[in-house]
Amino acid sequence: MIITVTKPIEEIMTNLEGYKKVFVVGCAACATKCQTGGEEAVNNMIKELKKKNKTVTGSVILDTPCDIRIAKRDLAKSREANESDVILVLACGAGVQAAEKVIEKPVLPALNPLFVGTTERIGVYNEFCSVCGECILDKTAGICPVSRCPKGLINGPCGGVVDGKCETDLTKDCVWVLILNKLKKLGKEQEIFKDYFSPKKRAKPKVVNRAGERR
Ligand code: SF4
Ligand code: SF4
Repeated sequence: MIITVTKPIEEIMTNLEGYKKVFVVGCAACATKCQTGGEEAVNNMIKELKKKNKTVTGSVILDTPCDIRIAKRDLAKSREANESDVILVLACGAGVQAAEKVIEKPVLPALNPLFVGTTERIGVYNEFCSVCGECILDKTAGICPVSRCPKGLINGPCGGVVDGKCETDLTKDCVWVLILNKLKKLGKEQEIFKDYFSPKKRAKPKVVNRAGERR
């Protein structure tokens, strides 16, 4: 899921300068799980806005604000949203931009999206995938060196491994040691350097259709 944190309230209020009537949009998906865009977060934001003398015309928590169809259905026609001066969105940037597409109002983000996270427990999230667009997990025992090696090394370790730990942070395992150990457990350690991976094109697809074709 997309990991988000709430922007400092001072920044949100600065962005809201000049707007009196605010409509608040929350997210029932990732931002609810992160506790940044669910019911409690939306209610807290409304309290903050009222304290700062803003008028809150209403709020909605969209099932998936990053889906333009949902935003069109549940936000675009909302009377309270259309009566507001500005839409404040407690969702990731994908959600903010879906809102922007469906309503002729200024749309502002209330969150800072950080990364695609693997949840350990609420409040502890790992950045295990950087969404590079060319997944190599099939070759690396399901462990991603692109995201989990601080140097992003995809063809084996650097010379800085110290007793299996990463030289950049000795409390953390070197991801290439983890990969090798896992391959050994699977009896596939001979496969580790069979493939050479060319440098990753970091270019991200702008639009991907159901067949995975980039446009
Ligand atoms: S290789 Fe790593 S960063 Fe790329 S898609 Fe796979 S898990 Fe994500
Ligand atoms: S020690 Fe391992 S994880 Fe750390 S930078 Fe080198 S290869 Fe990457």
